Amino acid sequence: MLIKLLMVIGVIAAVYFFFIKKSTPLTKERHNKKKNKDDDETLVECEVCSTYITTSEAIVSSSKFYCSAECRDKA
Ligand SMILES: [Zn+2]
Repeated sequence: MLIKLLMVIGVIAAVYFFFIKKSTPLTKERHNKKKNKDDDETLVECEVCSTYITTSEAIVSSSKFYCSAECRDKA
């Protein structure tokens, strides 16, 4: 009876740790991705008004960078 109880606790613990282990790397990966994105931010010049913007903010059209949709439409 005691062994059965320990087995049930063991299974619950195994499932519990399985889900924790499964969810932890995902959060870590997400965090790393975000960090990498910040590191990759380089300044690019707008083709129209020569404003410097980060690649994440820039609008890319025909492999050229624009600071806004307005500038993209002007080009
Ligand atoms: Zn611009």
